[in-house]
Amino acid sequence: MEKVKSVLRSKYVACLISPIVLNLLLIINNYVGVQWTLSRGWTSRAAAEAEAVAEISCSGHGIAYLDGLVGDGNEPVCECNTCYTGPDCSHFIPHCTVNADGGDPLFLEPFWIQHSTSSALVVSGWNRMSYTYSDHTFFSQQLESLIHKLHAFVGNAITQNRYIVFGAGSTQVLSAAAYALSLQNTTSQSPTRVVASIPYYPLYKNQMEYFNSEKFKFEGDAYTWKNRSDGSTNVIEFVTAPNNPDGRLNEAVLDGPNVKTIYDRAYYWPHFTPIQAPADEDLMVFTLSKLTGHAGSRFGWAVIKDETVFNRMVTHMHINSLGVSKDAQFRAFKLLKAVLEQGTGIFDFAYRTMKTRWERLAATLSSSNRLSLQKINPQYCSFYNEVREFSPAYAWLKCEREEDKDCYAVLKAANIIGRKEMCLVQKIIMFDSA
Ligand code: PMP
Repeated sequence: MEKVKSVLRSKYVACLISPIVLNLLLIINNYVGVQWTLSRGWTSRAAAEAEAVAEISCSGHGIAYLDGLVGDGNEPVCECNTCYTGPDCSHFIPHCTVNADGGDPLFLEPFWIQHSTSSALVVSGWNRMSYTYSDHTFFSQQLESLIHKLHAFVGNAITQNRYIVFGAGSTQVLSAAAYALSLQNTTSQSPTRVVASIPYYPLYKNQMEYFNSEKFKFEGDAYTWKNRSDGSTNVIEFVTAPNNPDGRLNEAVLDGPNVKTIYDRAYYWPHFTPIQAPADEDLMVFTLSKLTGHAGSRFGWAVIKDETVFNRMVTHMHINSLGVSKDAQFRAFKLLKAVLEQGTGIFDFAYRTMKTRWERLAATLSSSNRLSLQKINPQYCSFYNEVREFSPAYAWLKCEREEDKDCYAVLKAANIIGRKEMCLVQKIIMFDSA
């Protein structure tokens, strides 16, 4: 570049060259000029820092971060994936314990490394300092419109003429939904009964018990309350489809005028399940965590039919956290834009990865008569226009031997930490470093 610069600056060159060459040089000058301006601009230092840290090699088993671990000289160093260690994460730790009781969706990291140009974000020091956007709301309209486009593209949810609320991950959205629905008009003095069908994602129970509100009470398995008519008590049923942990496309167990349903659609993406039809429930919850894998950004959203429920959820967000971080919304905006630019790209990558892992897990377990894996029959997927296998995020294992009463202990003895209450093994984590 320095060479081109000095050629262009030379006062002797112009009189010697033909008009065609001159035009060519002007084009080069324009291009190089842009580069010069950028390299002198306020992004250059941040860009150089980001690129330098990205170049630290962690052998494909870790990543170095600007705000992460540092070495003796305060320089960023590799943060290794589970079961790997060493300065460049190249050392595999034999017999390491696999913690399958949590599911970081890191399987999408390679996709984002491949698409680093379209997904990188530049954030100035003065970016979006206000509590609100210019329309005085806490939610970015541009991001909302991308969410509509994405659902229309994938065909996994109807969002036209629906309200959208953002939250800090679907975790916050789920609790906002429970608060909003527990405020239904009622003559009953008893708290709203909150249920989910077994096996269910433990967060629903944990949240209800932790918030310990007089508005609701967690009452366990939805099936227990089927056909037990109690016309005056309000009920909220969490329906997780696909389900965490068994991957099934659950349907509501309860219905009736006093029953409200929160559909947790975190996994309703072609990565994990055939898309049967656009979901069109009254209240559906989605999350960036399982779509793009950015669990750390804490961004989720609800798609809502009823205006009153929407307003209550917005009020909840205001009181709970004054909305969602503008930085998280900006990040989500950039990522969803990149997803839409790639067409089916992220879904092809994610499905391929999850399916390969599932096949390896199923093949390994098929040689065992001690443990068995859930089987879900393939179904037609409208996104891919073909019959597809499920590629669930979780493995729901059964201990087959009579004497194996404590399935958790059986796995523990094999260096695998499952989920205690349910003896759950998460495939994502199990094969993270495979
Ligand atoms: N719903 C389900 C079914 C989940 O499995 C999870 C994460 N494991 C969540 C919600 C919460 O995800 P997040 O808060 O990251 O959006």
